[in-house]
Amino acid sequence: MERTLILIKPDAIGRGLIGKIITRFEEKGLKLAGIKFLKLTDALLSEHYSHLADKPFFGGIKRFMQLTPVIAICLEGLDCVETTRRLCGITKAREAAPGTIRGDWAMSVQANLVHASDSIETANQEVKRFFDDSELFEYEIALTSMIYSEDELR
Ligand code: UDP
Ligand code: MG
Repeated sequence: MERTLILIKPDAIGRGLIGKIITRFEEKGLKLAGIKFLKLTDALLSEHYSHLADKPFFGGIKRFMQLTPVIAICLEGLDCVETTRRLCGITKAREAAPGTIRGDWAMSVQANLVHASDSIETANQEVKRFFDDSELFEYEIALTSMIYSEDELR
C-alpha cells in the first residue's frame, strides 16, 4: 500500500495537539508504519524545503521548524498521499476547510501544524529522507478487514 510522510510541526507540539493529530489519522483508518521524535538540522530542512529556497520566508520557516523537536510519521493506506493531504487541509490554515486538521485548529500560513507529502514521488523521497528501512514496520492490525473491502485489499 501507499506510504506518505507526516511531520507534526513545532506549533502543534507547543500547543499540546500531538495526540489529537495522531488520532485523526488513526480514526481515518490510516496505519502507522513508523514514528519518531527528532530535532531538524539545518541541512535536513534545506533539503526538505528546497522547493522554497528562493522565497522570502525560507529563513523564517527554517527557524520555526527548529523551535522544538518534531514528530515524523510514516502513514500507510490506500491512496494514502492524496487522502492525507485532504485531511490536513490547504496551506493557509485560516482558510482551510472545517473538518481538516488545519481548518479546525490553526490560523496561520506558517504555523499550520502539519506537513504532508504532496505527491507519490515526493512521498517516496520524503519517507526515505526521514526513516531508515529498519524504522519502518509491516504488521497486521485487527481492524483492516473493517476498514477496507476484500477487493481493496487485493
Ligand atoms: N509557508 C510559509 N509561507 C508561505 C508558504 C508556505 O511560511 O507563504 C510554510 C508553511 O509552513 C508551509 C511550508 O512553508 O506548510 C511548506 O510550503 P508548501 O507550499 O509546501 O505548503 P504545504 O505543502 O505544507 O501545504
Ligand atoms: Mg509542501
